Parts: sequence; C-alpha cells; structure tokens
Amino acid sequence: LEAQLFRAQRLESIGTLASGIAHDLNNILTPILAGAQLLPLKFPDADERTLHLLEILEINAKRGADLVKQVLSFARGVEGKHITLQIKHLIVEVAKILRETFPKSIEVCIDIPHELWMVSGDSTQLHQVLMNLCVNARDAMPNGGKLIIAAQNLFIDENYARMNVESNVGPYVVISVSDTGVGISGEILDRIFEPFFTTKPVGQGTGLGLSTVIGIIKSHQGFVDVLSEVGRGTCFKVYLPAVGGIEKHDIEDLLPHTGHGE
Ligand code: ADP
Repeated sequence: LEAQLFRAQRLESIGTLASGIAHDLNNILTPILAGAQLLPLKFPDADERTLHLLEILEINAKRGADLVKQVLSFARGVEGKHITLQIKHLIVEVAKILRETFPKSIEVCIDIPHELWMVSGDSTQLHQVLMNLCVNARDAMPNGGKLIIAAQNLFIDENYARMNVESNVGPYVVISVSDTGVGISGEILDRIFEPFFTTKPVGQGTGLGLSTVIGIIKSHQGFVDVLSEVGRGTCFKVYLPAVGGIEKHDIEDLLPHTGHGE
C-alpha cells in the first residue's frame, strides 16, 4: 500500500511538473511560431531557401505547440484529431529529421511498399510514437549501427487474432523500428512499458517514452509488440488498423510482397 501511495504521489508530481513545463514551453513557442509566420509576409522577396527554412520552422513550431497542447490535455484525457493518413509520409519525414540530427555513425534506412494502406490517426501523436521509438533505438546504439523504419500491410486472420488478445481480425498497417543495438534482456523486457521504468542515467531517461507510445497506440485501437536479442538488437512493431478502400484482392496481392527500398 505504501508503495502504491508513493507511486501515486510520484505520478502526481510528475504530472504537475510536466504541465508546468508545458505552460512555459507554450510561451516560448508562441513567438517562434508568430515569427515564422510573419517573416515571409514581411519579406516576400526572400530567396527560396530562406522561405523554405521558415516553412520548416513554422511546421515544427506548430508541431511543438500541438505536443504541448497534448501534455496539457493529457490529464483531461482529450482525444487526438483523427484523420485518414498515409503513414509513408510520416516515416519519410521522421527519417529526414533523424538523418539531420542523429550521429553520423547511425545509418537510417526506410523500407516501405508502394501500396501501403491508409490508417486513421492523429499525425502529431503518431509522429511522437515514431520519434520515441527512434530515440530509444539511437540510445541503444552508442557506437553506431543501423536503424530501419519499415512499414507493411498485414491482414490479421482468425488464427492470428486468437493468439493475440489485443488484435481483431482485419487489415492492419505494421510499422517497425529496428536497431542493431544492445538489445533488451528478458527480465527488463517485462518492464519496459511501465511508466517511469528506465535503465538510462538520471536526467537522460524519464521512462515515459514507451508508456506514451502504448497510450497513443491504444487510443488508435492498435497494439505494440517487441522482439529483442541481447547484443544483436531490438525491433518494435506498431500495429494500426487500416481503413478504407481495401479489397480482398489487394490483400492477396500484397501479402507475399516484402516491400521496396526507399
Ligand atoms: P526512457 O527512454 O526514458 O528510458 P522508455 O519508456 O522509452 O523510457 O524506455 C524504457 C526502457 O526500455 C529504456 O530505459 C531501455 O532500457 C529500454 N529500451 C527501450 N527501447 C530500447 C531499444 N531500442 N533497445 C534497448 N533498450 C530499449
């Protein structure tokens, strides 16, 4: 009981801290966003590269503001804004950010088939899911390695659904993030999805990354699984229900394909 109380208190103080930071961050992001939106209007003759940079600045400031809003609304349990979207675009965007920001010793690859089904989701939340998984992959490869973000269509049939309580029968888009890092040992593997569980040094890990991933994916009616081998690497798989316009022959067509490099 004492442990539960301690946990509840810790949760509460983390919540207070998080919303405090989110408020401050909101104040910081507001002028950045305003600047990024105003500058192109003030300098319409600016060269294309400058305008492009401002556009990137605006998109990312907006993304930041969205995330802040989510943290603030987390306690209130506000749902994301779900639209029909193509995960491929999200992966391409994330890969670009990773290539610009991760150490050069980490090779970032993507593997997506031409015909990837659509999913219904909140792009900011799903962006965060991918970023959380990729940052973990980076941290697992301190001496460099290979990070692959892949996606594939998967039709989950009765047999599969029976083995996995979390999945329904139907079409899914599976996104996988694999690394060639340190891997996760058995006893740790059971705990990684717990909030606040971290093996990282104080100040480097909050232990909230994977619980955020689970929370977001559950709100998308999806599920997550993980495969890992110590010393070889880890692969996280995120399953999202596919939506719209999927015919039976599409499914048969696409099942045997492995996808094309990008
Ligand atoms: P944090 O990254 O802040 O520690 P997470 O919830 O994202 O919190 O991860 C919890 C723990 O799971 C990590 O501290 C690490 O031990 C383990 N982990 C997650 N992803 C990987 C990975 N790709 N390779 C090895 N260990 C991982």
